[in-house]
Amino acid sequence: MALQRRGILTHPVTCARCGAPESADHLFLHCRFARQVWDNIPLTRTIDIGTNSTFDQCLAASHDLVCLPPTGVSGNIFSWVCWCIWTERNLLVFEDRTLDAKDISCTSIKLAREWQEAQAHKPLPAHNLGGNNSHIRELTSMTVSTLFTDAAWKAQDRTAGCGWIIHNPQERETTSGTSTELCVASPLMAEALAVREALLHAKALHLSNICLKSDNQVLVKALNSKQHPVELYGINLDIENLSSSFCSISFVYVSRNLNSAADALAKSAMYYLNP
Ligand SMILES: [Zn+2]
Repeated sequence: MALQRRGILTHPVTCARCGAPESADHLFLHCRFARQVWDNIPLTRTIDIGTNSTFDQCLAASHDLVCLPPTGVSGNIFSWVCWCIWTERNLLVFEDRTLDAKDISCTSIKLAREWQEAQAHKPLPAHNLGGNNSHIRELTSMTVSTLFTDAAWKAQDRTAGCGWIIHNPQERETTSGTSTELCVASPLMAEALAVREALLHAKALHLSNICLKSDNQVLVKALNSKQHPVELYGINLDIENLSSSFCSISFVYVSRNLNSAADALAKSAMYYLNP
């Protein structure tokens, strides 16, 4: 009996689906089933589930995984996908029941959205409540939220898709959004509209310190110099007014390759306008 028990303890646990040794790396990333689940999650960048990647590495890099619209998920999806893979694994092991990979992906998105909606009803974080907690206020003033914005513009019908991503280090949260705009005169105007939308959302999130990054050098220069091209005059004044809502704000130019996630969002917004 003792030997038997020892035998059970030393025998490696195997994956109920494929028979490979069951580790977190295998179960959540490398197993064929897990890969199928990840394939059905629409992300702005592909999660690295190659055979050399580990669960810990993917978890550490998961903060900037952003779900594309129209999923409606703006927070981190990683934990929800892993949770659903885990509960499906238990269903298979203990009840001999199985679900389709696509269903697991859909359930992950649904749970992430439900969680997000539940958070919207929670009270605001302490730093937005006034009071005299100077330590929290000091910490807040030291953190800067980064906003990436981009726009896609279609000359034929003068429509634009705007995309933005907000990294909030204080709440360890990444949110994203898109909008579509009609009667947009130029790509420059589309970029300015994306900045305005992103700042409106940053204001709604009660963020204090902002570093806004755009890959449009002309726009960044105009916003920093406050010398606005005529075509942008109204929008840039809106941006100036919005800027005064924050404790600090800076506008920074980034190259296109560093702005690819916002670019993907803008293009996806455009796609929904002109499928
Ligand atoms: Zn497996």
